[in-house]
Amino acid sequence: MLTNMRVIAHERLGDDVNIRRLVLEGEAAAEAQPGQFLHIRAADALDPLLRRPLSIAAIDRSQRRLTVLYRIKGRGTQVLAAVPVGGMLDVLGPLGRGFQVPSTGELILAAGGIGVFPLLALAAAAAERQVKTTLFWGGEDRAFFDNAGLRLWRDLGTPLSLATMDGSLGRKGLVTELLGLWWQERTAAKEPVFMAACGPAGMLKAVSLWAQTKAVSLEVSLEERMACGLGACLGCACQGRDSEGRLKNLKVCTDGPVFKAEEVEWDAG
Ligand SMILES: Cc1cc2nc3c(=O)[nH]c(=O)nc-3n(C[C@H](O)[C@H](O)[C@H](O)COP(=O)(O)OP(=O)(O)OC[C@H]3O[C@@H](n4cnc5c(N)ncnc54)[C@H](O)[C@@H]3O)c2cc1C
Repeated sequence: MLTNMRVIAHERLGDDVNIRRLVLEGEAAAEAQPGQFLHIRAADALDPLLRRPLSIAAIDRSQRRLTVLYRIKGRGTQVLAAVPVGGMLDVLGPLGRGFQVPSTGELILAAGGIGVFPLLALAAAAAERQVKTTLFWGGEDRAFFDNAGLRLWRDLGTPLSLATMDGSLGRKGLVTELLGLWWQERTAAKEPVFMAACGPAGMLKAVSLWAQTKAVSLEVSLEERMACGLGACLGCACQGRDSEGRLKNLKVCTDGPVFKAEEVEWDAG
């Protein structure tokens, strides 16, 4: 859906000037699902010409609002950051295939850095269904978590297990180490586990291999540079495998961004 959305809030998420919270109001909120994204035109001008994809981090249907959380990276997000409250944004979306929201069992979320943003909407949807959810989240240091919305997770009441590279918060190390420890400590009453992960490709590959050895069902949200967002330009194609193990192209924009982990070919050059 091509639509205009009104900017309801646009501010820093924490102390880091480069991480922003953008709340948009409009029709797109009616259909949005966790894991989908908005393809946003940062400006009416020719530069930047292409839309920028940002995941939906929160859905409030009653108020017709969607929240995205983003890090300013280059020209597109810089221009977007200047859009004031009250302004209108040209938005394509919600786009893509989102996460499956389990109704039973246990949901485990694994996030690397700002890959946590799309998982927030999934955690909120799972909470509505009373599905027990835990977030395993790895980041650089304590300041990163404060700046990337740790308080939003605390507000939601999701149990958290954190890892930092420097040990300043949670366990020192990688998020995959947290998963390993959690698995060892699980008690006998084992509910089916559904996992969802988002983060850097290396982390997703490691989580995917780990989940495979434990026979845990895993969905991953991928990021690729994309242009049209509608499956036409193939700019966001990456390699996957079909159910017979044959190589195939995956379009992150329309086949994803959420995929079953086994659909993705992690070792594609
Ligand atoms: C489906 C999807 C959902 C996303 N959700 C979020 C989100 O919720 N929050 C968020 O902060 N970011 C998200 N991103 C990444 C975000 O789209 C890019 O950071 C943004 O497009 C960069 O645009 P720019 O003009 O600011 O930077 P550019 O000048 O275009 O790029 C700056 C740097 O970022 C790299 N880059 C650009 N686009 C991407 C991309 N799509 N993926 C990986 N690297 C990229 C470039 O290679 C370059 O090094 C998402 C990407 C996808 C595909």
